[in-house]
Amino acid sequence: MNIHEYQAKSVLREFAVPVPRGIAAFSVEEAVAAAHQLGGPIWVVKAQIHAGGRGKAGGVKVVSSIEAVRSQAARLLGSTLITHQTSPHGKVVRRLLIEEGSAIEREFYLSALVDRARGQVAFVVSTEGGMEIEEVAAREPEKIVSFSIDPATSLMPHHGRRAAALGLGGDRGADLSDVLAKLYEAFVSKDMSLLEINPLVVTKGGQVLCLDAKIAFDDNALYRHADIAALRDLSEEDDKEVEASKYDLNYIALDGSIGCMVNGAGLAMATMDIIKLYGEAPANFLDVGGGATREKVSAAFKIITADPRVKGILVNIFGGIMRCDVIAEGVLAAVKEVGLSVPLVVRLEGTNVELGNQILSASRLNVITATDLDDAAQKIVSAVREPQ
Ligand code: GDP
Ligand code: MN
Repeated sequence: MNIHEYQAKSVLREFAVPVPRGIAAFSVEEAVAAAHQLGGPIWVVKAQIHAGGRGKAGGVKVVSSIEAVRSQAARLLGSTLITHQTSPHGKVVRRLLIEEGSAIEREFYLSALVDRARGQVAFVVSTEGGMEIEEVAAREPEKIVSFSIDPATSLMPHHGRRAAALGLGGDRGADLSDVLAKLYEAFVSKDMSLLEINPLVVTKGGQVLCLDAKIAFDDNALYRHADIAALRDLSEEDDKEVEASKYDLNYIALDGSIGCMVNGAGLAMATMDIIKLYGEAPANFLDVGGGATREKVSAAFKIITADPRVKGILVNIFGGIMRCDVIAEGVLAAVKEVGLSVPLVVRLEGTNVELGNQILSASRLNVITATDLDDAAQKIVSAVREPQ
């Protein structure tokens, strides 16, 4: 789960990480009130969307009057920001962060992420603040240091010295170690999967400050963090994926023509592969899981049929814990509600397969049944290619 920059900064503030003073605003009036409260004389008006690259796209403005805060807020709110991290359609700005301005001496890059190979949290620090870290890694790898943290000993002074060796800190080395330790504590306690501070700056006053903050959390750990889960902004997410997540479905939208409903990630991958083998492409990845209910199957089916790109549906279920009759009932319930305007191929195998097939054939649904995966893939591919 991703959150906005202003939310990320308030999470970091709980851990005493130094961030600029700032107030979120949802309207021009709130932005002006925030500017008054912060006092100036310099303010930064920042568009809040779940994407970086806002600076270059005009979404971050440093201003020196309340009137400028007002006009920038009016310009940004409701506008669509297209950055190199958004899709070409961009994202609508619905929230702003009004911050006090900071006098920047030097900008750095810092991130923390889970290094799966080592089983530890790793930090990546670079002198090239404000740059894309991938570019720096490709062109000037000597400007990046990275180190991972042993959870048994946590952050040690030598980690701070590794970062300070880049010139971040200098006489501020102690300051930096302190910030690193707090960031590490925040990362671990809140089950983050990514924390990116770009830029981390040293101000003219010599203070280390997080000027930007991007945080992603591990979805599987959200149940232990009600405070974090409450920060979710659904308007930033794909509608179909939001709907799927309500039913705990593993759904990812793709851009092919065949909607797939499958149980088990392995079977889902195999189904996608075989559709490609026969010359079409999947419209989605959808794993209904092992113990899906009729409601869950029905929700999955509705999500698939709501996608205008779907020209045909392939249901491929191997009933183990999942029963074939439950799948059949779920499909029927969904079709009754939303109708079925595209060909449907069903391949059921395993527990209660006879009952499942009976339910489908007793309905007046125009279902094409298949005997195995190969048969199913060929049938759905030819069905979407035949003129209806
Ligand atoms: P991003 O482009 O989406 O990553 O947004 P950032 O929060 O990183 O802001 C973009 C750039 O705006 C930063 O790299 C800074 O150079 C600049 N910026 C942000 N806040 C301030 C500030 O308080 N003072 C000054 N002078 N520049 C700022
Ligand atoms: Mn940034």
